[in-house]
Amino acid sequence: MTDPTTEIASLSRALPDRVSIPGDPRYTAAIATWAKTDVTPAAAITCRGAADVQAAITAARKAKLPLSVRGGGHDWAGRALCEGIVIDLSEMRAVSVASDRRSALLQGGARARDLISTIDPLGLAAVTGSHGGVGMAGLTLGGGYGPLIGSQGLALDNLVEAQVALADGSVVSASATHNQDLFWAIRGGGGNFGVVTQMRCKLHNIPIVLAGVLIYPISEAKSVLTQAATLTASLPDELSAQLGIAAGPDGSLSVLVAPVWCGAPEDGERQLAPFLKLGTLLAGKVERMSQTALLSRFDAMIVDGLRVHIETCSLDALDSCSIDTLLSSMANAVSSGCVILTHEFKGAACRVAADATAFGLRRPHILVEILTMFPDPEDVTITQQHITWARETREAFTAALPGGYPNLLGPDEASRATKSYGDNATRLIQAKRRYDPDNVFSSTIPLPQD
Ligand SMILES: Cc1cc2nc3c(=O)[nH]c(=O)nc-3n(C[C@H](O)[C@H](O)[C@H](O)COP(=O)(O)OP(=O)(O)OC[C@H]3O[C@@H](n4cnc5c(N)ncnc54)[C@H](O)[C@@H]3O)c2cc1C
Repeated sequence: MTDPTTEIASLSRALPDRVSIPGDPRYTAAIATWAKTDVTPAAAITCRGAADVQAAITAARKAKLPLSVRGGGHDWAGRALCEGIVIDLSEMRAVSVASDRRSALLQGGARARDLISTIDPLGLAAVTGSHGGVGMAGLTLGGGYGPLIGSQGLALDNLVEAQVALADGSVVSASATHNQDLFWAIRGGGGNFGVVTQMRCKLHNIPIVLAGVLIYPISEAKSVLTQAATLTASLPDELSAQLGIAAGPDGSLSVLVAPVWCGAPEDGERQLAPFLKLGTLLAGKVERMSQTALLSRFDAMIVDGLRVHIETCSLDALDSCSIDTLLSSMANAVSSGCVILTHEFKGAACRVAADATAFGLRRPHILVEILTMFPDPEDVTITQQHITWARETREAFTAALPGGYPNLLGPDEASRATKSYGDNATRLIQAKRRYDPDNVFSSTIPLPQD
């Protein structure tokens, strides 16, 4: 074992301008995350390519320092950071489109907005989540629910190949023809197997979507959510909708209905018309929009630098009982930073065999995201109140399916992860043993327990 300080100094000489330690001007930017954390990494390596990533892995191993990967920095639990070495991918964000326009090659740190800003002018779309700041690798490796889920599946269903820097210092390709077991494991197993330095994902010809964020009064919540849930369940794969309850700028609650139609625009106007008549529409409209505009729909609601705690569960459907749970939890929310939001899992995502990728839950379902976001409190009990509210809310969904969306599970939820991966858990554990036997990549979503 080399002394950590010596190893970081030697890495700094080997990679000039790429290593920063606390106090350096570039350090703060290299470890910036969406959610506030209390972690002070020993060093951040702002990598420019796979060779830098390899050097960072080797140095961390030699010095026996913890290692983490900062992609888009949007993991709510701050797992992009650790007390050791952070592999910062913020300068690896290049995107290029293949000449046949069917796929794009992304560097490992590319965010959704890097991808969409490149392909939108070409009339092309890709499966992203709902926010442009999220890293495409982080999103894809753990799942990737998004507005195109019904027609194109999860983000991970659109992964064609990845270049992965492994714990042993090698860089390999993973695809349907190369290292198939690694390709299987990284499609759902998160960052547990290595660092994706570049990846190829499918593109789709969807120049325009019809979408909107519709706001209804909280007094009509039961009726609006019941109708919206019935409607979304009955509409074709081209339609997906997020439903939720959140506080507006004045702190008062309202119902949020956010439908997206990615089929022919002329059909969309007819399909989306009922969403405008769910009750007394307070704000919002349905309109034709570009992929860039679609990705920015929630920007005003997403604030950087807050404390965050998220809980998640999945339901077969948003039925009357679940809507009651949602409403009573929001009525008892501990602050205006408490939000409940759903994502749909349907269509193309359900037509992938359950054992085709590591991702475990392939039946139609509704993902429930229970978010708490609040300024750094002086009184620590406030943090605990938010965590307790989120936990109790999750537990109140008594019809929840086993496990939860791996990308949103907390660091202490390995037993729930075991359930999330279902019959894929054993194979995933075997892949971890093969590719990362020393658990070098531990600052990531939890894997199933043995
Ligand atoms: C505002 C917001 C909106 C979101 N919306 C959605 C959504 O619509 N759909 C959805 O499915 N999820 C959504 N998420 C969850 C998101 O997909 C995960 O938190 C994801 O892990 C974030 O990736 P990141 O690269 O931004 O985060 P980071 O914090 O940088 O990374 C998180 C973890 O991902 C792994 N990782 C990242 N990059 C790499 C890489 N190149 N190689 C190997 N491992 C890597 C690492 O293990 C790392 O610890 C959202 C999160 C936020 C905060």
